[in-house]
Amino acid sequence: MIIAYECPVRCRNNAEFRSFPERKPQTDWCRFSKLSEEKKSMIERSAVKILVLDDESFMLKLLSRILSNLGFTSIMVCDSGRAALEQLADKDTGPNLILLDLNMPEMDGIEFVRHLVERHYTGSLILISGEDERMLQTAEKLVQAHKIQILGHLHKPVKPEALSALLETWTAPSVDSAGVAKKAYTAKELRAALDNGELVNYYQPKVAVASGEVVGVETLVRWRHPVDGIVFPDQFIGLAEKSDLINDLTQVVFTAAVTQAKAWKEAGLALRVAVNVSMDNLASLDFLNFVAELTARIDIAPQDLVLEVTESRLMEDTRAPLEILTRLRLKRFRLSIDDFGTGHSSLAQLRDIPFDELKIDQGFVHRAWSDETLRAMYDASLSLARQLGMEVVAEGVEDRDDWELLHRTGCDLAQGTFISRPMLPTDVPAWIEGWRDRVRNELSSLPPKESPNTPGLK
Ligand code: C2E
Ligand code: MG
Ligand code: MG
Repeated sequence: MIIAYECPVRCRNNAEFRSFPERKPQTDWCRFSKLSEEKKSMIERSAVKILVLDDESFMLKLLSRILSNLGFTSIMVCDSGRAALEQLADKDTGPNLILLDLNMPEMDGIEFVRHLVERHYTGSLILISGEDERMLQTAEKLVQAHKIQILGHLHKPVKPEALSALLETWTAPSVDSAGVAKKAYTAKELRAALDNGELVNYYQPKVAVASGEVVGVETLVRWRHPVDGIVFPDQFIGLAEKSDLINDLTQVVFTAAVTQAKAWKEAGLALRVAVNVSMDNLASLDFLNFVAELTARIDIAPQDLVLEVTESRLMEDTRAPLEILTRLRLKRFRLSIDDFGTGHSSLAQLRDIPFDELKIDQGFVHRAWSDETLRAMYDASLSLARQLGMEVVAEGVEDRDDWELLHRTGCDLAQGTFISRPMLPTDVPAWIEGWRDRVRNELSSLPPKESPNTPGLK
């Protein structure tokens, strides 16, 4: 039922946008397209400039037809990565959505994604392949890691319904967020921000999964930039580490966090406060002395503070960090291994450092209930922490399904947007009240726990 009208085919290494005429629904696909017309308001079809990249001309024809039947008018087809890249040169006329085949002879889909990153592509992507689900999921994660918006993946042969469902999630690239996210700051600007008190602490709750009790908060720094507004740490922590400002930054964040912990304590709020510590902070004994002295002076018990450590790059000499962390632990500060399972937060660190807490990276938590690979990693991290006697925090709990998985599997603590986004300290007391109501009303009746020996998907 595909034969409807002539569809554009591309010559090798050539590409163009085609406008498709309006046509009456006649086939099964067209009936489907009529249904989907009712949802037309969900996306502005004319704004979507689609590039279809596949080495098989049959697939190009097929996808073009499905797209035009769905009401999309700007469709460009390319049969090689090189031809497609030429179309990206002009940001005004280039695509803002690419349907990408993974398996292509010259430049494969993964290599093409690397070129998209180099060209600062700000549009979205849908992956298409005849490969198995695991392969497509892995490729999807790779795209996410490159911070390219991915709407999802499709198996060949592509079903119009599945493609339409993904297309309806398309949103126009935001000029603001794209622009702000890419802005690079200089060490001088960051130095001035530190001196002018432009760094502010936000706090995100960590709650006990079994009882819903608010156990503590994690300190997350933001830069309140006089022109750019709130700037997130991924835009300046790396810079601070590279330009020798990380010690000053951590001191500012830590001082404000301990002072805040004291204020909460005096107000009757018992909250364990966590602070992120860069491995670069642990290169000299000054950090140990600073932390110990400040905590004693402000009169906060070390066990009420958590130091969350991530290793963003490989340390050449690990002797100093090992010594400092061990001594902090001897002084009863709580140590947490952050982003476990990613980068260098690994088994070797677990072996060498006496951590109290393991934070399972959000990449292994959100949607682990529906994905076998994530679930295996989540289960393995949980079980490892259990065997080592550590408390486990799951990061990235974004919805009720995530929360229920934690509950069923007996995870200790949860953190994520399902519970709360990071907030200003003044908002914390009222948020706690609201959260207690939510626990009573929404979260008290949950399914029974799984036995630790029977992990598996829901
Ligand atoms: P992190 O320590 O792993 O912090 C968790 C990050 O995940 C935070 O991003 C938080 O806002 C975000 N997040 C929280 N809940 C969710 C969720 O449900 N879903 C998703 N997708 N994300 C969630 P943020 O604040 O942008 O911080 C990013 C990273 O920057 C932190 O990761 C931490 O490694 C680093 N960082 C933040 N503050 C500091 C600091 O004071 N010092 C150092 N050295 N690093 C910091
Ligand atoms: Mg952290
Ligand atoms: Mg983390």
